[in-house]
Amino acid sequence: MTDLRRTDFGRIDLRREASDIIAELEALRAADAPTHGGRVLSYVYDSGVAELDELAGAAARLVQPVNGLDPTTFTSVAAMEAAVVGFARSVFGGDDDVVGSVTSGGTESCLLAVKSARDAWRAARLGTPRVPRIVAPVTVHAAFHKAAHYFGLELDLAPVDPATGVPALAEIEDRLGDDVALVVVSAPSYPFASLDPVADVAAMTSPRGIALHVDACIGGFALAFWPDRLPTWDFSVPGVTSLSADLHKYGYAPKGVSVLLTRGRDRQRHQYFATTGWPGYPVVNPTMTGSKPAGPLAAAWAIVEALGEPGFAELTGRAARATAALRSCVERIEGLRVVGSPVGPLLAVATDESLPVERRVDPHHWADAARASGWHLQLQPGLIQSDGSRLPHTTHLTVTPVTEAVVPELAAALDAAADAVRGVPPVDGAVVAAGLSAALPGGAEALEAAAVMLDSDSAAGLLRAAGLLGGDAASDGDGGTAGGAGALPDRMAPVLALVEALPGPLTERLLVELLARVVEPPRL
Ligand SMILES: *Cc1c(COP(=O)(O)O)cnc(C)c1O
Repeated sequence: MTDLRRTDFGRIDLRREASDIIAELEALRAADAPTHGGRVLSYVYDSGVAELDELAGAAARLVQPVNGLDPTTFTSVAAMEAAVVGFARSVFGGDDDVVGSVTSGGTESCLLAVKSARDAWRAARLGTPRVPRIVAPVTVHAAFHKAAHYFGLELDLAPVDPATGVPALAEIEDRLGDDVALVVVSAPSYPFASLDPVADVAAMTSPRGIALHVDACIGGFALAFWPDRLPTWDFSVPGVTSLSADLHKYGYAPKGVSVLLTRGRDRQRHQYFATTGWPGYPVVNPTMTGSKPAGPLAAAWAIVEALGEPGFAELTGRAARATAALRSCVERIEGLRVVGSPVGPLLAVATDESLPVERRVDPHHWADAARASGWHLQLQPGLIQSDGSRLPHTTHLTVTPVTEAVVPELAAALDAAADAVRGVPPVDGAVVAAGLSAALPGGAEALEAAAVMLDSDSAAGLLRAAGLLGGDAASDGDGGTAGGAGALPDRMAPVLALVEALPGPLTERLLVELLARVVEPPRL
């Protein structure tokens, strides 16, 4: 590798020294949540094996200049993609009729599964003006909300049992009809780690000729190697028509890589976009982007080659043992309960409502207390389902192989966090919301009406009133911190309470404002 201190950068007069730039990035990285060591129990998937990260980095580096857009020009891309899809097909019970693509992540895999199903549905009903539906349990990943929104389908969500997170089969069956382009089930679901009844749902969709997608984005590469026997959930169920699984989750690859597998070449061809209708090169893409990196694919390929099935089984075993240990830890904590019967390396924790209030532990206060001692758990809001029943607010833990090494330390922190907040009532969202409406001329009514009409500055004003956004002083923050967002609050429980209390469209509008301002350059 070139020594950046010795090169003259092709005689370009640099604005800044390379070493200075890297030092700044190192300082920025130091402020990130820790990506390794098991302290963050969502977003990051640490195998705990540093050499795997090294290997992935070296592989990505080798293809850094490659354009994954054209596997006929860059044949390494075709070779690696075929190998990765082949591995996935074999671990997910697929035969030669199962084909697939490597995508940029779970969301893209889910988007493409919906696009293909929509186009197959339309092709079978040429000229229909009807809007097709997607049917799924309410626990289905938000990527399917996005897909419905992007591709013009209606999302019809079936309620789940609040105790277990699993839908009653009748709730799915009642929704089936000729306008259903796709049914989606999860293996397992992100919010509650519930394994949907894949075979039972397939028995309803298959005779009706309805496509069935298994979203195994989070758990696929772990469930395929799970030590306990599980109900069948992959292509070994005949009615499953497509399946998504993320290599940047339990494939331990850097972000930007997932697979979408489809049963049947004819079905899968609907995934492609092709045009020769412009004066440039023919555009023929199985995925959403044009030019694309080959690095994440190369990294995933190298990891798959290195680990093989035995390596995956070993790492999955570590995650499974850590999950079992944490589950019994939570079950022993007075005031908390594990939701349902989680399957795979994740679980959700709710309040034990069978106890008197003074012995209950609110999972959001618990997560905030754990955060104060350096453990990042993920808060999930409660939700009213279409049948009026309420899914509890919970705290989510994604458990990775590295977690096994820190179980004693983590379990002690979870115990201590529960002791610190036992008996503290959950934040009352109505009180927080009332504080907000005081900041709006017109009060609560204006707040209701505001949802869609809110302009950017008014939305920012509300965020400031809620203490979620710094003032106009964004530009004189220390060290050139970009954007107008204040430091995120130490306690997330009030924020989640607000999410639950405000009307959905208003919360969504405010969150758009928050995220947009986080990445804004400093004011001129
Ligand atoms: C993570 C996840 C997705 C979306 O994947 P991204 O890689 O974050 O885009 C979809 N479905 C499930 C169940 C997931 O856990």
